[in-house]
Amino acid sequence: MSHVLVVNSGSSSIKYRLLDMVRRRPGASGSVQRIGEDGAELVHHTGGEPLTRSGPFPDHEAGLRAVLDAFAEAGPDLAQVELAAVGHRVVHGGARFSRPVVVDDAVLDTVAELAPLAPLHNPANLEGIRVGRKVLPDVPHVAVFDTAFHQTLPETAYTYAVPDSWRAEHGVRRYGFHGTSCAYVSRRAAEWLDAEPADVDSIVLHLGNGASATAVAGGRSVDTSMGMTPLEGLVMGTRSGDVDPSVPGYLERTAGLAPGDVDAVLNRESGLLALSGANDMREVWRRADAGEHGAQLALDLYCHRLRKYIGAYTAVLGRVDALVFTAGVGENDARIRERALAGLEHLGLALDPERNAAVASGEREVSPEGADTAVLVVPTDEELEIADEALELTTGRGG
Ligand code: ADP
Repeated sequence: MSHVLVVNSGSSSIKYRLLDMVRRRPGASGSVQRIGEDGAELVHHTGGEPLTRSGPFPDHEAGLRAVLDAFAEAGPDLAQVELAAVGHRVVHGGARFSRPVVVDDAVLDTVAELAPLAPLHNPANLEGIRVGRKVLPDVPHVAVFDTAFHQTLPETAYTYAVPDSWRAEHGVRRYGFHGTSCAYVSRRAAEWLDAEPADVDSIVLHLGNGASATAVAGGRSVDTSMGMTPLEGLVMGTRSGDVDPSVPGYLERTAGLAPGDVDAVLNRESGLLALSGANDMREVWRRADAGEHGAQLALDLYCHRLRKYIGAYTAVLGRVDALVFTAGVGENDARIRERALAGLEHLGLALDPERNAAVASGEREVSPEGADTAVLVVPTDEELEIADEALELTTGRGG
């Protein structure tokens, strides 16, 4: 009982990774893409030449059965490794789930009820769990929620100043996302500092396609930039982050846009993409370095917003032991890290230029020796965190 299969089910895809929790190594991973569409394909990595299979995979059940076939054909043999659990990523746990749960029918019903809060994600996550329980009926299935880590937010941080009926009847409040990543990297940061998580206050900057800042006090999330949905806060690849809440109404009145249209544009056609024409940070840099004003503005705005949140969360925490960069941009982009902290020396935040610029991939400290606040780069590992949480819940032992 040493392995956990982690499943991340999207609307037309299933991503998976098998983890050996004793040796703490990924055993195999892969994805099924374009489920229900033409050109559906499965790719299964075991370390050598990947196994690929073409569809059709008409639905998630066909996709997951193909995954099991791939394990049977290319290994590792799931029967032999004796799965301890299947861990499923679920984006929105609302106010109902503050920790992972073993899935039963009641949990499925509750996740389904939360669908209006995450219409793009929760139904797809749910489908992955339903199918998973069907094709792997003898293994416990655990739902791990992206929002759960932020259920410790104090009332002042999660409440929006809006009418009681909106809050009570419609669940309008801050939930926060990237919680699995935040839990993992904030704990790793404490380990780096050789301290207990309860004794460490940190700011986590998860900068991927989506981006968020979180204030973590003693291992508990106390404020976070994403809100009721993952749209609020930092500038992201295709999401605007903070805008005046009156903008949608204004555009509906003046530009004839429908409410759903404004929402879709703010989520999918804004952010770096709207300003620079690209949502991939590496491409934004190429354009900025080539002198394109839009890309330069996009980078300036991205880092300006980051600095504002760092300042705000320094005020929330009062003391910051560690500032942690993670995810694609945070882990790899030294120039963004440099610009995000520029001018914040008076807050005790500084970078060592050589450490910051060094090409490296593991956990590392990029602040000068003995700095008040340790600036760390911690590669996130959401799958490992999901697997750890699933294992702990089902067997009582973490990895
Ligand atoms: P997701 O949120 O989809 O998990 P990632 O954490 O993989 O995303 O982050 C994706 C982002 O990371 C993209 O904007 C990509 O350009 C950026 N990124 C990846 N590698 C680098 C790099 N070497 N330098 C700068 N940005 C990078």
